[in-house]
Amino acid sequence: MNTFSIAIHGGAGTLVKGMMTPELEAKYKAALKDALEAGYYLLENGGTAVDAVEKAVTVLEDSPLFNAGKGSVFTAKESHEMDACIMDGKTLNAGAVSLITGIKNPISLAKDVMEKSEHVFLAGDGALRFAEELNYKLEDASYFYDEFRHNQWLEIKDTDSFQLDHAKKKDSKFGTVGAVACDQEGNIAAATSTGGMTNKKWGRVGDSPMVGAGNYANNKTCAISCTGSGEFFIRGVVAYDVACLMEHKKMSLEDASNEVINKRILEIGGDGGLIAVDTNGNIAMPFNTEGMYRASKSSMGTEVVSIYK
Ligand code: ASP
Repeated sequence: MNTFSIAIHGGAGTLVKGMMTPELEAKYKAALKDALEAGYYLLENGGTAVDAVEKAVTVLEDSPLFNAGKGSVFTAKESHEMDACIMDGKTLNAGAVSLITGIKNPISLAKDVMEKSEHVFLAGDGALRFAEELNYKLEDASYFYDEFRHNQWLEIKDTDSFQLDHAKKKDSKFGTVGAVACDQEGNIAAATSTGGMTNKKWGRVGDSPMVGAGNYANNKTCAISCTGSGEFFIRGVVAYDVACLMEHKKMSLEDASNEVINKRILEIGGDGGLIAVDTNGNIAMPFNTEGMYRASKSSMGTEVVSIYK
């Protein structure tokens, strides 16, 4: 049997000391642990990497602590526009959605795009019509409401600025979520889900739903889920860049992930982190910010649940 493993993240960013109380830290760690265990349970019972990453991400989407699903940030129009992507490293099948509202678990809709449509990426109204055809129930805005997120928006709503969870200004409750996994068969998969950035407008879409930028999986190399300043992660084609370094430069998962996060993305001005897994079940979780909510567990017996460096 192959070593199987899973890693998850709940976003990377700046955290001003003092904003994080021990109680809050415990809540975050408990939420990470729940998501980790839910995904790991499937792997342990012979489930696929694709199902494990979907499961872990839905648990994080259901928690108001993270900027995905329930608790997503507010757009300039005081609404929610969520993005998600899932990719199967065995088949290179992928599904993605962006600019969707009212869907409780965007990652499941992305998986349905992958499995039940001829397409890879559906956006906005079209994605919602697809969801309707599959009998998805739409939640109203109150389901996604989170007071902290709303206050973040109230502070900047009349300005032209938008705020990434990574903004260095003050505590920006981190947020985007993701999972990568390697199953007992040695197949890998990646999933990423986000509400994007506070006060975003003009249909802004970040890296999270983009294959190769914020999310990527290929059995030849690795499965990656990113979190960070999306505009830079798109331009750096970050997730695919890690895979390329492994494939063409024969770098290890650890070295390739570090090279991209601690060198290449910094050179173009981006900040954030990623989680990565390869087909041997190895895990890497580098970030160049003060912290990244993250957790991992492997059948080799290692388990990590952590926030800071
Ligand atoms: N990368 C996400 C985006 O730009 C944000 C994040 O990771 O927090 O939409």
